[in-house]
Amino acid sequence: MPNNNIAIIGAGLAGSLLSIYLAKRGLRVDVYEARGDMRLGDAARGRSINMALSERGIAALREIGMDEYMLNAAIPMHGRMIHTPSGETKLLPYSGRKGEYINSISRSGLNAALMTEAERHAGITFHFKEQCTDYDPENGNLSFASGKSVVSGLVFAADGAGSALRHSLASSIADFRSRSDFLEHGYKELVIPSGEAGSFLIEKNALHIWPRHKFMMIALPNLDGSFTCTLFLALNAPEGSDEPSFAALTDEASLVDFFEREFSDALPLMPTLAEDFFANPTGTLGTVHCSPWHFEGRVLLLGDAAHAMVPFYGQGMNCAFEDVRTLDRIIDRDGPDWAEVFAAFEQDRMPNAAAIQALAIENFYEMRDKVADPVFQKKRELETRLEQTYDDYFSKYSMVTFREDLPYAEAKRRGNLQDDVLMQLCSQASESSQIDAEEAIRLVRSIG
Ligand SMILES: Cc1cc2nc3c(=O)[nH]c(=O)nc-3n(C[C@H](O)[C@H](O)[C@H](O)COP(=O)(O)OP(=O)(O)OC[C@H]3O[C@@H](n4cnc5c(N)ncnc54)[C@H](O)[C@@H]3O)c2cc1C
Repeated sequence: MPNNNIAIIGAGLAGSLLSIYLAKRGLRVDVYEARGDMRLGDAARGRSINMALSERGIAALREIGMDEYMLNAAIPMHGRMIHTPSGETKLLPYSGRKGEYINSISRSGLNAALMTEAERHAGITFHFKEQCTDYDPENGNLSFASGKSVVSGLVFAADGAGSALRHSLASSIADFRSRSDFLEHGYKELVIPSGEAGSFLIEKNALHIWPRHKFMMIALPNLDGSFTCTLFLALNAPEGSDEPSFAALTDEASLVDFFEREFSDALPLMPTLAEDFFANPTGTLGTVHCSPWHFEGRVLLLGDAAHAMVPFYGQGMNCAFEDVRTLDRIIDRDGPDWAEVFAAFEQDRMPNAAAIQALAIENFYEMRDKVADPVFQKKRELETRLEQTYDDYFSKYSMVTFREDLPYAEAKRRGNLQDDVLMQLCSQASESSQIDAEEAIRLVRSIG
């Protein structure tokens, strides 16, 4: 495999992981990162403080020997804890099978650990505060905001959703197509601090959700006993309506009034609500579609740079890690011809990325609207029973989250058909316990 000045743009989650995989092949790689070194406390504030790590991501960490180390620094979340408007809670387990749960992990902790692991390999060099501004695929020239310019024969663009490399390709490759679709909702991070002596003020081992139809809040636990909450809310209310929106929450009084009305059980646990709300940025939520992901064996887009998605399936990072794992497998099979490797990578990953992107948008509506719906709750109860009873039953959520052997596209196809069948059964029963499990599994198996 030729070693012709390999560059990775972006030392985020995908870029750092990829550098380790390439180093294991004995390749020398320069990684250029726009931000400072987060390990020196020099980074700009990340996009989310903690995130859900699940099987597809863990599988990649396992391959580089970091799964146990990272899982020791994570908090298992066994289900969704639903908070009703009147403050009652109900746990909906993610799976009826033992050992199937997701993990709340610090984004910066994981990213820093990957960089440190990468630096153990002699061939890997990180260049911080090097923001790439332009790439010319014809001559391999990379330009940086610092004034630096580097020629690289092989470039991996792991520079995230706003990828500068993707923009460069859009302006230099004739048939390059790129589109970003934004939701009308944005997000804001807030905090529930720890209680006395680092205790957790709400259930530690759950992903908390306050579903309110047009908007919702979620909370994931941190090791220090705090929770990072994310409020997902319309950026602006539709014209003429008085629906809640970020634009309408202009002062402390309107904010507290909104939280008293909608999140009454969380409000007393959020003493710094107003401070956090007005200090933290409001993020936007978009899906990136682009094609092709590569050009003549010289450059490959991967991770969010190729297929950013909304965060509602907790799969963006997991999918980016699966990209790296798949790329490694394809290099084994088709290397050393990078053009062939990149074409095979795109063929494998593009339909799967499109599937999880679509599922992530569907899950926005599920989390926001359906988890509070009695028919949906009956379906989750039935699914838990099916998972406890039949080894071959996996809910759509389980197929996406716990089955790293199943491509996303297949999980989506099978999962959506299965959901239709089960929702139909549950809409006809007043209690999920009345549904005949044998009949349900027979219908599911008939889907194929
Ligand atoms: C609110 C929120 C919650 C999320 N929760 C989850 C979750 O629970 N589970 C999950 O799996 N995913 C989650 N995601 C998605 C996840 O964050 C992304 O999919 C993941 O970070 C993608 O990794 P990446 O390396 O491709 O991009 P990034 O992590 O964005 O890394 C890109 C890196 O490139 C650098 N960079 C950018 N531009 C340049 C440039 N021009 N030159 C050099 N460097 C550059 C950036 O500084 C950054 O370090 C969430 C996303 C959001 C917004």
